[in-house]
Amino acid sequence: MIKTLLLAVSLLAAGRLSAQAVSGPSYLLLSHDPAFLVEVAKISETVYAKGRARLVRLTVPEGEVPAAVRALLRPASPADIRYSPAAAPADKSTDPAVLALLAGVNSARLMGYADTITMSGKRGARDLDASAASGNRLAADYMENALRGMGYATERHCYKDRKKDKECNILARSAAASGARTIAVVGHMDSVGHENAGADDNASGAAGVLEMAKVLSAYKADHNLLFIAANGEETGIAGTYALAKKLKASGEMSSIAWAINMDMIAWNRNGSVDIETNREFSAHAEWVAGLASVYTRLKPNISMPAWGSDHVPFLDAGVPTYLSIESWEDHNPCYHQACDRMAPLSWDYAADIVRLNLAVIAGKARLTPKK
Ligand SMILES: [Zn+2]
Repeated sequence: MIKTLLLAVSLLAAGRLSAQAVSGPSYLLLSHDPAFLVEVAKISETVYAKGRARLVRLTVPEGEVPAAVRALLRPASPADIRYSPAAAPADKSTDPAVLALLAGVNSARLMGYADTITMSGKRGARDLDASAASGNRLAADYMENALRGMGYATERHCYKDRKKDKECNILARSAAASGARTIAVVGHMDSVGHENAGADDNASGAAGVLEMAKVLSAYKADHNLLFIAANGEETGIAGTYALAKKLKASGEMSSIAWAINMDMIAWNRNGSVDIETNREFSAHAEWVAGLASVYTRLKPNISMPAWGSDHVPFLDAGVPTYLSIESWEDHNPCYHQACDRMAPLSWDYAADIVRLNLAVIAGKARLTPKK
């Protein structure tokens, strides 16, 4: 403690920290976009950084923080953070029916889906202002056609008028018996807008949605399935927030038992996967992580609290939801840049994340192979 004070005093003396920085509240960053980090660095000091959690303290009065930056800061302290390996499950026995389901995952097919989405052009939601034939629109059309071709009932959920087109999510459903609850699987198909990029963020997760839908299309489920190709994630999680509003208004949100999000699932060096949720659902996340140890080669980490992707609107609505994402300790160096391309990605790793998420569904729903 004294050492910390001495350090603070010496830093103050050196003019490197203001009084606010030493004593003020800390904030969790709700974006790690490289351009945002540059802006944040101008008004704050990092006081904690581990995995997906980065906390800063302001070095300027709060009133001097630009509104766009302040909107992506949430008060939090190191005590709110967890980023650590999950406990290994006591029982590592496997279920042959789950193994048979997971054997349906095809990493080459998964890569093909991601390649088509990546090569759609400019997939930013803002590109709908510039062109009626934007990559965003082409990716949405591709997702809708692919899901319909698998036998799902598809729907275009348009929530915003853009200058040349509408901004829409793509929904695909299979219905179980009436009164059944719903399992939702989401991945965003938009990118930050670099041409033929966003392979990892998030053609990989959107492709994961397609691969899960494809494997599950050979099964009858005792739950309704709702697959969501979300739009506008890179512009404030717009698509999933709009969808959550619609699901609440129709009463459908209360029938969603839980949801799974995939965002950046294909760049890897350390074999780890982050399972992210909020503290109230930590038992659910531990159970998911246990399945990773049983059914995949992934090394699961638990990450809390949740921020910055399509799991957040579901968590805000009280639905147990987790994000599956590549290890943030060592994530894609081309994150949000034009170099986020297919070449460095690992589809065996991504396929393992798809297997994990299918094992989760098999663990909570009854799946029967269609004849
Ligand atoms: Zn993303």
